[in-house]
Amino acid sequence: MKYAIISDIHSNLEALQAVLKKIDGLGVDQILCPGDIVGYGANPNECIDIVQQRASLVLCGNHDYAAVGATSIEFFNPHAREAIIWTEEVLRPDCAKYLEGLPYTASVDGAFLVHASPSEPNKWNYILQPADALHEFKCFEEDICFVGHSHFALFFEMQDDSCKRSLPSSFSLEKDRRYIVNIGSVGQPRDRIPAASFVTLETAKGIVQFHRVDYDYHLACEKILKAGLPRFLAERLLVGE
Ligand code: ZN
Repeated sequence: MKYAIISDIHSNLEALQAVLKKIDGLGVDQILCPGDIVGYGANPNECIDIVQQRASLVLCGNHDYAAVGATSIEFFNPHAREAIIWTEEVLRPDCAKYLEGLPYTASVDGAFLVHASPSEPNKWNYILQPADALHEFKCFEEDICFVGHSHFALFFEMQDDSCKRSLPSSFSLEKDRRYIVNIGSVGQPRDRIPAASFVTLETAKGIVQFHRVDYDYHLACEKILKAGLPRFLAERLLVGE
């Protein structure tokens, strides 16, 4: 099976469409989405419609739950908070109901998926350092886990009791190792590469591959400004941070 794993779309329709176009050319069997369809961008309903239609598995992210009042926005920065309040106002009732029903975690074909962290899926912790990852490896059984949330594409590799962090590259799964892969963000990358990020997993060959896709950044920015959302949320898309 070949899976494409996409997350942190954040209502960026242009980025989502570009990623799906790329996925359609890769011979992917199933699309998995560990959360954050909405928040920050201008097209929440459109992105939900597409993800609902295209992905075989969708999990909740903190922004998805925040937009329907299912998690607190206490720890959101002012821009994120403003975008969530705007999203809540424009969300169609059927889309809100869909977000409310999304689960925290899933296990698919030997892979564990969660938006933020396996240890406390509802606490939205970040896995940034090898020390964070070492703790998280204890909290799922599978040999590989896919997460989003930080918008930084990277992966952690654990062998025996040591863990190292690597920048995105294709890699083959080794039998004596375990992995936590941060798939990066489709709609708001923060690793100083503006291009949309996603990952593919080929289970038969045991290969994980990172992908980056250019999209119409300016159109996505214009829509954010037109919606009256903070200028910062538009400008950051151009620099990827
Ligand atoms: Zn996110």
